[in-house]
Amino acid sequence: MTSIPIMPIPGHVDPVPVPRDVTPRADGRVDLIGLPRPRIAELFAEAGLDAKAAKLRAKQVFHWLYHRGVTDFDAMTDIAKTMRPWLAERFVIGRPEIVTAQVSSDGTRKWLLQTADGHDFEMVFIPDADRGTLCVSSQVGCTLNCRFCHTGTMRLVRNLTPGEIVGQVMLARDALSEWPKGSMAGLEEDEDERTYTSDGRLLTNIVMMGMGEPLYNFDNVRDALKLVMDGDGLALSKRRITLSTSGVVPMMERCGEEIGVNLAVSLHAVTKDVRDEIVPINRKFGLDQLLQACSDYPGASNARRITFEYVMLKDKNDSDDDARELVRLIRQYKLPAKVNLIPFNPWPGAPYECSTPERIKRFAEIVFEAGISAPVRTPRGRDIDAACGQLKTAAQKMSRAELDRLADEKQAALG
Ligand code: SAH
Ligand code: SF4
Repeated sequence: MTSIPIMPIPGHVDPVPVPRDVTPRADGRVDLIGLPRPRIAELFAEAGLDAKAAKLRAKQVFHWLYHRGVTDFDAMTDIAKTMRPWLAERFVIGRPEIVTAQVSSDGTRKWLLQTADGHDFEMVFIPDADRGTLCVSSQVGCTLNCRFCHTGTMRLVRNLTPGEIVGQVMLARDALSEWPKGSMAGLEEDEDERTYTSDGRLLTNIVMMGMGEPLYNFDNVRDALKLVMDGDGLALSKRRITLSTSGVVPMMERCGEEIGVNLAVSLHAVTKDVRDEIVPINRKFGLDQLLQACSDYPGASNARRITFEYVMLKDKNDSDDDARELVRLIRQYKLPAKVNLIPFNPWPGAPYECSTPERIKRFAEIVFEAGISAPVRTPRGRDIDAACGQLKTAAQKMSRAELDRLADEKQAALG
């Protein structure tokens, strides 16, 4: 049985009901997507190639998979014709399966995807004039249960594997026809093809802001993002990738050191009482610890600021005092920060309402006048439930009482 590496969760209790294992493929073939080059070489050697051939083939195959985006071994024209069926017998080039694809009136696209073992999750693409952002999921469901988030009303079904995470980016490139074209002629063993740039492309940025808490699936998210950043892989710069966390403090330093992407933190409240209520992980890792971890985040600077996400909830966290306290905290911890104000996106049965436009405007002004950038995020894709916090796949429908029980269950697991 293959088992996905699940990170040991710091703290005395594992905060997750043990997620399901990945079911191996029935045909016994190994999916190459999600594997780094050395692991591909190892598998080729185990399947019978000598070490030198395994290494060379792994380099060629890696390039075809991650840089060219081919989904068929037959398209790998610099690999001997006789060898291609040998590969196809033993390996597959997987993609998450597309269940449905929707397009919003504002151009936002949402895909309902399915893992090979039948679990649904979602991915969203948000086109803008100057960029295109892919919002990637890290888990089916979520470990946590923030009160304003639809995904939080799902159980954690399982962590997505590195292949399922990088597979989302690959699928988006398929859908947007954005694989680099050109000939493979002359690809030598040590040639370095770092030619992929984001100029003129649709998909320019990635945010780990889909379903799930990425820092509770750290190893898989890291391994996937390494493939996304690899110069001979998907070749997207770490400056164009942002990981959003609800505040898994013990993993933040490793995120900066081992992944090195931009950090966004779902702050949403500036007092213990309110944050405990709406972002319950706050009861385990409090505001002081969180802001200290932000101040220690490797790589943060005035040029690479930490984004604080702040969802605007009517009469909950949107007063002038809240805005002033936010400014005070950012100053106290000397944080290179910007604030992203997110109008609350409603979902059926949500216990909150969005703040009024006037309130959001006033809140933004207070933060902005203190010299901190505080744009209000325009909701995108609301008509197809693709906006922040609206993602939820067909888990069982639960009553309010069942939802409260689920929240208690997740909370008890947090310790
Ligand atoms: N689990 C991670 C990343 C996914 S959520 C995290 O919590 O940071 C991406 C962002 O959408 C987070 O800032 C989250 O708090 C916000 N969000 C969740 N539900 C929302 C809603 N209903 N309306 C607006 N934003 C929401
Ligand atoms: Fe999970 Fe993020 Fe939603 Fe909280 S806001 S429940 S951490 S996906």
